[in-house]
Amino acid sequence: DRVDGGLEAEQEKQVTFIRRSAETLLEFVNDLLDLAKVEAGKVELHPSEFQLVDFMRGLRGVLKPLRINDPVDLVFEECEAIALIGDEGKLGQILRNLIANALKFTECGEVRVRVTYDRRLGTACFEVCDTGIGIAPADQLRIFEEFEQIAGGLQKKNKGSGLGLALSQRLARLMGGEILVESEVGRGSTFRLPLPLEAAEGAQRDRSRRSTRVL
Ligand code: ADP
Repeated sequence: DRVDGGLEAEQEKQVTFIRRSAETLLEFVNDLLDLAKVEAGKVELHPSEFQLVDFMRGLRGVLKPLRINDPVDLVFEECEAIALIGDEGKLGQILRNLIANALKFTECGEVRVRVTYDRRLGTACFEVCDTGIGIAPADQLRIFEEFEQIAGGLQKKNKGSGLGLALSQRLARLMGGEILVESEVGRGSTFRLPLPLEAAEGAQRDRSRRSTRVL
């Protein structure tokens, strides 16, 4: 916080290393605790009414500051203006993880996020699509297990615990859904989450499909 005066360039660099290490450790400990809590059956859902448009905007707002000078575009497709009932917090946790992964494993092209809602089935389908390194068929189940990371070029460059997808899948199942993956090595991956979510009464029914790009 520079309460004792400014920092030299080298000090600044070292402080940044320390902060990053602390953040990585904190993320790891939080993932471990969350996973242990789900396994112990102690995680409860807290459903509430939320606007899908606001939820997606919030997600975009959290990820936007990370996109400075990045060659990969993060595109959020505009979604239906509808109010849904569900655990917004846990849904956000899953999607943040899927989007962060997509960005980590994509060097050029784009990461596209979209959601559609099927009123007849009462199901929302969230999708995170990337043009990244892809995942071989043999690894596509393994990545949902704890501590599993695929050895490869981008793995070394990125931090990560190998717990994100394991935790996300457990949270998705707790909500009655399942994360599915389709991927081709060298072309990219699509992570899909179909989730039963009830539409709230009096929801707006205006549909629009324009795309917005996060710069
Ligand atoms: P972490 O990202 O912390 O390593 P995750 O459980 O979220 O752990 O992911 C497990 C592994 O699955 C990653 O390390 C990576 O090898 C692979 N993976 C996940 N998402 C993608 C993606 N979008 N493209 C390519 N590989 C991915």
